[in-house]
Amino acid sequence: MRDLRLPDAVVVGGGVIGCACALKLAEGGLNVTLVERDAIASHASGNAYGGLYASFGPGIPGPTLPVALRSIELHRELDPQLQDETGIDIGLRQAPSIDLALTQEAMIELFDRSAWWAAQGFDFEMLDQRHLREIEPGIAPDAVGGVLHNSHYEIDSYRFALALATAFERQGGQIRAGAVNGLSRDGDRVTGVALQSGEELAAGTVVIASGPWAGEGEIDGLPDLPVRPVKGEIIRLRYPEADISHRIAVARSYVARKPDGLVWIGTTDEEAGFDETATVAARDRIMAGALAIAPGLESAEIVEHTACLRPTSVDGLPVVGAVADGAIVANGMGSKGILLSHAVAEFVREIVTGEEASVAMPAEYDVGRFL
Ligand SMILES: Cc1cc2nc3c(=O)[nH]c(=O)nc-3n(C[C@H](O)[C@H](O)[C@H](O)COP(=O)(O)OP(=O)(O)OC[C@H]3O[C@@H](n4cnc5c(N)ncnc54)[C@H](O)[C@@H]3O)c2cc1C
Repeated sequence: MRDLRLPDAVVVGGGVIGCACALKLAEGGLNVTLVERDAIASHASGNAYGGLYASFGPGIPGPTLPVALRSIELHRELDPQLQDETGIDIGLRQAPSIDLALTQEAMIELFDRSAWWAAQGFDFEMLDQRHLREIEPGIAPDAVGGVLHNSHYEIDSYRFALALATAFERQGGQIRAGAVNGLSRDGDRVTGVALQSGEELAAGTVVIASGPWAGEGEIDGLPDLPVRPVKGEIIRLRYPEADISHRIAVARSYVARKPDGLVWIGTTDEEAGFDETATVAARDRIMAGALAIAPGLESAEIVEHTACLRPTSVDGLPVVGAVADGAIVANGMGSKGILLSHAVAEFVREIVTGEEASVAMPAEYDVGRFL
């Protein structure tokens, strides 16, 4: 008989990837313990913008496109259930967003990209200057046009991660506070994890979802993974004027009204090690990008400024799969972890239990490429 005190699986990391994997395994009837050293979603997963977009990003066009499309369907199917089960308002909504062109060259580039969006069946419309100004009166006077993406969705990433963790506990899963600093082994087989406190947790399978720290050599016995932190900052503004309503983006700069009325502006991509401080330099860069989009924001009040780290692999693609007998990694989600979480959890479940994922994991995601 199975010893109910011993977990079938230990998941390391309580970000969105660890929580989604833990829930999926617990739903499959496994006895699962999740170990988090800080707090659930206290890093990137709790501070992310929460955009669910399949029309751009690393691996798109490319291997991530089918996974991203399926991921949006999974959010639409599963998030309302999660919300009902946990009572946590995840805020899933269709959130049309605009790619803005500030120059004629940028507009031509958008037209060029639109051929690919049309071929994929994305729901979008090209906007001329007049149409643009009708729907977004607050945009810069020199904006020449844009694209309105109707197939974009958003969620509240912090509440989403909390809902995953809450649903996991309701399935009988255990959340433990602790820092994992080693893998226990019996010969080549991983048999559990060692905590900094000296305690060992035995488990049939260990899932390592420790975000950018997985590449740091913090977990003894975990092979070196080429995953690094890419710092991103976001500023929340109070801006009561009604002249901005959509998310409006120019390259990596964006301005977006969130459901609570605040305007979020972002973002940065910086290689700064594990530094998670919000800096004046990033604030100035983000403000400059936002004011080029919507000059009226000059009068806005800064309410909050956050910084966190995207776990990013050297080729920009997720890193999923077995690193040893009994140990699996789920990492490298970069700027798409909130979007990809449900699909990645299915990939991990397939590896552990054999139950087929609803979209095939691309071979390009396999951790084997780095081992
Ligand atoms: C500014 C910004 C905006 C973003 N916007 C979006 C977006 O719009 N859409 C989208 O899809 N994605 C977005 N992302 C990306 C997304 O946030 C990440 O891909 C995702 O959160 C990664 O989740 P994770 O669980 O892998 O890592 P993390 O959230 O970093 O979680 C890892 C967890 O593991 C824990 N941990 C680490 N080591 C140990 C250990 N040894 N023992 C125990 N616990 C450990 C950490 O404390 C942490 O809680 C954004 C990211 C940033 C920075």
